[in-house]
Amino acid sequence: MFGLKTDWSLDVLPRYFTLEDYDGGEARWCPGCGDHAVLAAVQRICRDEQLPPEKTVCVSGIGCSSRFPHYMKTYGFHGLHGRALPVACGVKARRPDLTVWVATGDGDCCSIGAGHWIHAIRYNMDMVVMLFDNNIYGLTKAQTSPTTPPGMKTNTHPRGAWLPPLNPTASTVGFTNSSFVAQTVDWNPVHLHATLVAAYRHKGLSFVRIMQRCPQYTANIFEEFQQDPAKIQLLMHENGIQVDPAVAGMYSNQFTHDPSDMPEALRLANQEDVIPIGLFYHAPENPRYELATVQGLDMTVDEKLKKLNAEIDRFAI
Ligand code: SF4
Repeated sequence: MFGLKTDWSLDVLPRYFTLEDYDGGEARWCPGCGDHAVLAAVQRICRDEQLPPEKTVCVSGIGCSSRFPHYMKTYGFHGLHGRALPVACGVKARRPDLTVWVATGDGDCCSIGAGHWIHAIRYNMDMVVMLFDNNIYGLTKAQTSPTTPPGMKTNTHPRGAWLPPLNPTASTVGFTNSSFVAQTVDWNPVHLHATLVAAYRHKGLSFVRIMQRCPQYTANIFEEFQQDPAKIQLLMHENGIQVDPAVAGMYSNQFTHDPSDMPEALRLANQEDVIPIGLFYHAPENPRYELATVQGLDMTVDEKLKKLNAEIDRFAI
């Protein structure tokens, strides 16, 4: 054809996602709330790993942190109180190709959602579960949560909470088929980011408890740990969370811990005078339930019916 060369080719650039591609708008958490740091870390990981937004799902229950899916420009499901994990398991069971992030709080996960928590750990489907632990029900304005420390005055315990608090990290290490349990703090963005990267890369359910500041209702709760880095115990190991030596050097209290050692993980998690951060427990070979639930997903309806009838025929008299 006149004027048209036939030997040209068009280079179509692969899609490149920037941080804006994951930014769902202005987060409306209180100024200084630790949730902002977690959101920034997850958006950065999505960008660095080039996760297609249409293949990424954020699931949450109810609570301040559960507004997380609204601030991510991905698919999202803001569910019912305590029900983030069954929704996330349902997503993963039928769409194993999606990356699933779960945002849940100490009230959402460890109280009303505790039954789902135990079984989601046992199912060990490939997802990252972020427990935002601020020791209080923030959204409903300061009621005692399962992790509220004894003596803290709340609207439900005006003279101070008095039951021993639940320890989500130790509990999760002890649940059947637990495969990745880590702990970090919102005020160290490097460690937070490194922990969530390791969680994302683990194949199975990664449970990350994040000590999260709530300046509105538990303003002083982590202050001593922020002021005195010696009260943070940095767990180190070649199979653990790898952080920049400059950041590791901030912590004089370092402890070598092999994350395959469950009894030691439990002992470390139950310490009360320090906050240990790092990888407590890792069992990468544990079975994953979605490897069973995906069977047959590629079959047509006719193929399924044929197989089903063949199965039923085996029992026909
Ligand atoms: Fe964050 Fe607490 Fe405000 Fe909720 S009440 S948004 S947890 S600072």
